[in-house]
Amino acid sequence: MESSLESKILEFSRKGDMEKVRWLEKMDTLIPKSQVERIQQNDKTVLKELVLPSWVKWDFLYTWAASKKTADGRRCILCNEYRENGIDFKEKYICEDCFLKLKNLG
Ligand SMILES: [Zn+2]
Repeated sequence: MESSLESKILEFSRKGDMEKVRWLEKMDTLIPKSQVERIQQNDKTVLKELVLPSWVKWDFLYTWAASKKTADGRRCILCNEYRENGIDFKEKYICEDCFLKLKNLG
């Protein structure tokens, strides 16, 4: 895929444009998950909230976001999965499945 992150990094490396390479290498940490999800939904209003270099185009962002796994919900401290249904237990999040298991054990 031409617009994949890897090919962009390669392209800019070849051109010696290391500033862009560095940005691409850390874009995972620069764009929060909630905004990745909006990019996946083709919600271009997210562009107003993100501070992106001008050379970062929507098509590339969209392809990048589409390749990323995002999950709904929050990460359960017991099974490590992202689940939508669960409870807060002593300030930790436990998914419904794990909570039921715990309850049955107890
Ligand atoms: Zn769980």
